[in-house]
Amino acid sequence: MKLLEDRIKRDGTVLPGDVLKVDNFLNHQVDPQLMYEMGGEFKRLFENEGVTRILTVESSGIAPALMAGLKMNVPVVFARKHRSLTLTDNLYTARVYSYTKQVNNDISIDKRFIDPDDKILIIDDFLANGQAVEGMLEICKAAHVDVVGVGVVIEKRFQKGHQLVLDAGIHLEALASIASLANNQVTFASNTDK
Ligand code: 5GP
Repeated sequence: MKLLEDRIKRDGTVLPGDVLKVDNFLNHQVDPQLMYEMGGEFKRLFENEGVTRILTVESSGIAPALMAGLKMNVPVVFARKHRSLTLTDNLYTARVYSYTKQVNNDISIDKRFIDPDDKILIIDDFLANGQAVEGMLEICKAAHVDVVGVGVVIEKRFQKGHQLVLDAGIHLEALASIASLANNQVTFASNTDK
């Protein structure tokens, strides 16, 4: 998506450990107009999949997932990383290792917010080694629901997550695909090397 690639070129910075910092439009400050455009793009890409619900994980997945849900007219549920007094039992839970924070989080969703007939679209901000997506897939497996797609805002195609999702036979779309962050340079993958 050209709008997103241009924004990454303008505002993204590369940090040690192959981390792309995009906190002035996605991970901290959020650009609503860009999120809205991205929601429309997710709708276009997954239009034929019969999506009934979107699943993401807090916090950075929420903004793009919400806009996709708005455009696709389906509910959005986000897995929580922290237990709360109102989130007690009747949960689906999975353990996820965080790429950027280097800690394990147990992510949970209330069983009321996933339905056996659902066709789930998983959305997240980044796809790196695929741990977050794997955790969400584990939850969907436990809930016996179909996952019809994984949509990410930015994938780092040189890390494991891209292949992991493809090997699972799931329709994967990234709005921006990064081939390399070597030498502090963002190099985009062309769509032909999918
Ligand atoms: P994965 O679970 O695929 O290894 O990593 C995905 C999660 O780690 C995303 O939800 C995102 O929050 C975080 N993450 C991974 N790589 C990056 C990155 O390069 N930049 C930022 N800002 N977050 C990342």
